[in-house]
Amino acid sequence: MRVHQYYTGSQLRNFSYIVEGAQGHLFIIDPWDGAESMDKARDLGGLIKGVINTHEHWDHTRGNEEIVKKTSCVVYAHPNGEGKIKEANVFLSEGEKIQVDDETYLEALDTPGHTFAHLCLLLVHRGKPQAVFTGDTLFNAGVGNCHNGGDPEVLFETIENKFLTLADDIVVYPGHEYLGNNLGFTLKNEPENTHAKEWLEKYKSIDWVKAPVTTTLKEEKEINCFFRLDSPEIKKNLPGNPQSRKDVFLTLRELRNSW
Ligand SMILES: [Zn+2]
Repeated sequence: MRVHQYYTGSQLRNFSYIVEGAQGHLFIIDPWDGAESMDKARDLGGLIKGVINTHEHWDHTRGNEEIVKKTSCVVYAHPNGEGKIKEANVFLSEGEKIQVDDETYLEALDTPGHTFAHLCLLLVHRGKPQAVFTGDTLFNAGVGNCHNGGDPEVLFETIENKFLTLADDIVVYPGHEYLGNNLGFTLKNEPENTHAKEWLEKYKSIDWVKAPVTTTLKEEKEINCFFRLDSPEIKKNLPGNPQSRKDVFLTLRELRNSW
């Protein structure tokens, strides 16, 4: 099994992914560009078995039609995406699995908050979760906004219950490249965060096309202020003196909207 991460060059800095099974079965996650995704699949030499959309927003689904036209493959999405996502025809509830190869599957996590039709996908190989495709729920060093059909209180529950419970060594594959901006936001709220400072330095030399970089959940706990809700420094710097994890999260989410 291999994961191929593609920086698409879209204005919104989208990533698309191909998960390649050992028998050459390919699953395309969030195809920004249908033709380009199929070119990548051709280069890998495998067979496109399915497209998976993390959620209904156009920038995560716009490649669907072209890929289905050429390959007639299945398109997976959240049950609430029915009627909203073009070509979606298999709907995944929490815990449902897509077999990638004999030893690998993708497991659907129901992750509302950015929208209410949002799935994340846990990649499990030989019984061990290796990575999670997080769409617009969790970014490297940040979380998604709730402007277009979401709810920040629900997003808080999702982050707490679905991500803080996962193992530290799991790799995060997000829907967009927002790492630099997000690190800046963490450092605005927590200027003494040395991990975030180191990452911001490293960020400057990343070539997203040739060698995209990602984080683990352990690193997220170090650099993502939405995971660092008990940090005394963050609490001290926030307006309104929020104390509970939920109130700190909601205050940060609100501030991030206008940052
Ligand atoms: Zn979105």
